[in-house]
Parts: sequence; structure tokens; C-alpha cells
Amino acid sequence: MDTMWNTVTGQYFNTVNTISAECGRDILESTLVLCECFEGLLSKTREGSDVWRLNHAQGEWVLISAHTQRILSMALTMYETTNGAFNIAMGKAVNLWHFNDKKQRVPGREELRRALAGADCGRIEQKGDSARLPAGMEIDLGGIAKGYIADEIGAYLRECGVRRAVINLGGNILTIGSKADGTPWQIGLQYPVGDRAKREKYWGLLHSRDNSIVTSGCYERGFWRDGTWYHHILDPRSGMPVQNRVLSVTVRTKDSFLADAVTTPLLILGEREGMELAERYGVEVVYYLKNNEIVYTRGTELMLVREG
Ligand code: AMP
Ligand code: MG
Repeated sequence: MDTMWNTVTGQYFNTVNTISAECGRDILESTLVLCECFEGLLSKTREGSDVWRLNHAQGEWVLISAHTQRILSMALTMYETTNGAFNIAMGKAVNLWHFNDKKQRVPGREELRRALAGADCGRIEQKGDSARLPAGMEIDLGGIAKGYIADEIGAYLRECGVRRAVINLGGNILTIGSKADGTPWQIGLQYPVGDRAKREKYWGLLHSRDNSIVTSGCYERGFWRDGTWYHHILDPRSGMPVQNRVLSVTVRTKDSFLADAVTTPLLILGEREGMELAERYGVEVVYYLKNNEIVYTRGTELMLVREG
């Protein structure tokens, strides 16, 4: 078997996914098949996916896969522990913005208010292998699914005997093992401000050995309109992009599912409440604030990169 370092890339989950590992190309190609399968389960636009069927069931029970059940359960727990800041039931409000297509627009307040009416995760029911949404509710798993999928790809590579890998699903990173020389992977934290050239540069580094590093940022997905930047992480109270002191937040922890699930609410809650949430879940957090201040959990080994 060819056990060189290999890389595959694919467009799934509305982003670019790059998976590199010390293994043969056949194994890596299979990870893209896994991505395709997860897209088929979790996409809200692909007809027949678990999420699509839930969103179109008009209040009826829907049989869903064990994967979707686990993601739903985690999302509902996050809803409770963040007092509703993390809310997958806001699908209709997210759709109004069209962040993922060329029809991007700023919805009106009344439109958003209507889209948010009844967006209460407490009304989502799960029983055995089925789930039910109230008629009219639409869920959006964009804030939590990539972490789950990264863990599944990681588990698959480990089962195949792979000892070194970097799984990068649009910035949601999971690493396996270390670099060939035994030192940990260095994961760059990109500037969440400035023009494209600046945002491709790293301001900090976190090392990772069998860890996940996940960033949520106001800069990644959004659009300019009349001099204002509208980004994709929404305040569930208004349906408008979250406005606080945070530009980006990065989490390091073992498990990518937890890292992704917790990073989105950490951005929404801001650095003060966020630190409490991070402590509760035992994850390391690095905030990059609008005033260029960096706030991070005690003990986190963050390396700053000099510009120039
Ligand atoms: P992430 O990049 O993991 O922070 O996820 C951002 C994605 O989560 C967005 O593109 C939306 O699909 C979804 N989303 C936006 N706002 C929220 C929210 N308040 N709670 C849960 N999911 C959200
Ligand atoms: Mg997330």
C-alpha cells in the first residue's frame, strides 16, 4: 500500500474541505464519500435529506438516522445551556439572508419577527429513532454539523490504521497524531479583520496533537450592503447578525463535535459569559476582540505571530 502523505479536497457543506493524511489515496477518497453521505443526511436544501424531511413534514414524526439524532440531541442541550443563544430552530430566519447564494439581502424587521415566531427548540421532540418539529419550524444544523462529521472522518481514518492526519472542514479542524518528526501540528489563527490578503495571514498559533481546533468568526461568511458588514451568526432575539465585542473565537478540545457546538454560542454570548460556558465544558478558548485585544483561558499555550 502507498502510505505517502496525501491530500484530497472537496466542496461540501457550503465550504471547501481538505483532508490530508499519511495513507493511501483510496482511504482518503473514501473520506470524501463520507462527506457526500453526510451532506445527503444533513443538508437543508437537498431534497430527501433527514433535515429536509424534518423541515417539510408539517408536524409529522420523521424517521432519522442515528447521526442526525445525536446532532439534534447535542443542539438541544446547547440551546438549554446557552439560554437560547444557540438555536437551530432559526432556520427560516437564516434562510431570509441567503448567505449561501447570490441572492443575499437584508431582511426587514417584520419579516424576521415572523420567521422567528415559534423558533423554540423546546418544541422539538425526539423519540427513539424519530423526531418531530412543529409545523412551520425549520432547523439549520450549520452551526454544529461539521464538528460531528470531522469526528466521524477521524474515527474512520483511525479504524483504517491511519496515525497522522489533518481534517479541515472549512476551518473546523481535527488532527490525528503528530507531525512525522513527533512535534505537534501548528494550527494558524487567521486575522478576523482587514482585506483578504491580511485575513490569509496568521496572528497566532495553537498546537494540536489529537485535538480539534474550531473557529467561528464574523468575517467568514457575509456581505457588505451600504457600508455595513452583515455576517452569518444571528442573534436569535432579533434575527440580525450578532453585534458584540467579538470578531472571532477559537476553541481547542479533544472532540470536534463539542468544539463546533460550543464555538458558535461562545461568539454569540461574548467573552464574559463565554468564559463561563468554556469552563463548564472544559474547553480552551481564544477570543479576538474588535479592539484587537486577545482574551483566552488560563493555561492555554497560544503563540503570537509577529507581523512582517
Ligand atoms: P459556525 O460557523 O459553526 O459558527 O456556524 C454558523 C452557522 O450556524 C450559520 O451559517 C448558520 O447556518 C447557523 N447559525 C447562525 N446563527 C445561529 C445561532 N444563533 N444558533 C445556531 N446556529 C446558528
Ligand atoms: Mg459551530
